[in-house]
Amino acid sequence: MERKARRLLREDGAGETPQAQSAEEAHRTAREPLAPGAEVNSQVSNYFDKKGMAVAKRTAISLLTERGAPSMIKSVVSTEYQDLQKEIVLLQDKWKRQINPETIKPTLDKAAMAAGVPAAALTTIDFEISLFIQCIEEINSILINYDPELETKLAGISSLLTEDTMIRWIEEAFSFNHQYFVDFAEENGFEEWIPHFLTETALRPYLQKAAEIIQPDITHAIPGAGCPVCGEPVRLATIEENGKKMIHCPRCLVHWNAKRLECAHCGNEDHKNMKFLTIERDAVSQIQVCEDCKGYIKIIDTRQYIEKPSAALLDLNSIHLDYVAQNNGYQAVGEEKDIN
Ligand SMILES: [Zn+2]
Ligand SMILES: [Zn+2]
Repeated sequence: MERKARRLLREDGAGETPQAQSAEEAHRTAREPLAPGAEVNSQVSNYFDKKGMAVAKRTAISLLTERGAPSMIKSVVSTEYQDLQKEIVLLQDKWKRQINPETIKPTLDKAAMAAGVPAAALTTIDFEISLFIQCIEEINSILINYDPELETKLAGISSLLTEDTMIRWIEEAFSFNHQYFVDFAEENGFEEWIPHFLTETALRPYLQKAAEIIQPDITHAIPGAGCPVCGEPVRLATIEENGKKMIHCPRCLVHWNAKRLECAHCGNEDHKNMKFLTIERDAVSQIQVCEDCKGYIKIIDTRQYIEKPSAALLDLNSIHLDYVAQNNGYQAVGEEKDIN
């Protein structure tokens, strides 16, 4: 008999699940200045970077400092690393198709959503744990195939993939509890990025499936609340055929229209405080920055793209813009404004 983890109702009643949070707490969690997507991307890319397999990140940054203006090589992510990510995206698509939509039940609470509570926090997902474990095993194989040295580093992880641990991983990933995964890695002798990366990667097909179901109800986002479906901080937009700005969540892939001059972090619409940084030799990208909250988002004009990459790949391939923005003092999550 298959045991399933149900997010909303834990039968043993132990512990506080993310869903047991009040709307207020969920809102606070959503505003936590931690971006699981960005965090995990940068950790895994750092790992491969150390091995000389990703990026010319440091070179790019020194170029920026010397010239004093945003100017850098167009992509800092190696083609090998992009290929790895593409393979993972294909795998996630495959799993997403295997998820029975009946197992995902969103509660579209308009009032909670208007208060910035991400819809995923109000969604019941019946996880089939054996499938979740299978996902993680498949990611392990891809990683080892990409970098055989990882075989030793991932050795012994299979025996830890028990139902109880998987339920915990799912809950902690939903709660954005990065520290839990850091501790788990340390206690079990894994590199710091491994447990969270595996969980995030295996969780995304579920988030994306939920986002597909909820998408028709998503027309806008509350500034500062992050993605209206999964709570990931906003950091990526595209310019569409009609010239409109469309914000995309690289984590759950939901998207919504936004005003061209509105700050996604604090809602500022004063054009005097919004700036656009452009990148030399990168005609399709801009960084929109807000002087009110010091937040930024990346804007990519995809109108000339023959094949539009998924938001997840677009986010990864534009990681150089994150470095430029952050080196210029802007951050992925805007500062909370002092209300006094
Ligand atoms: Zn999202
Ligand atoms: Zn702002």
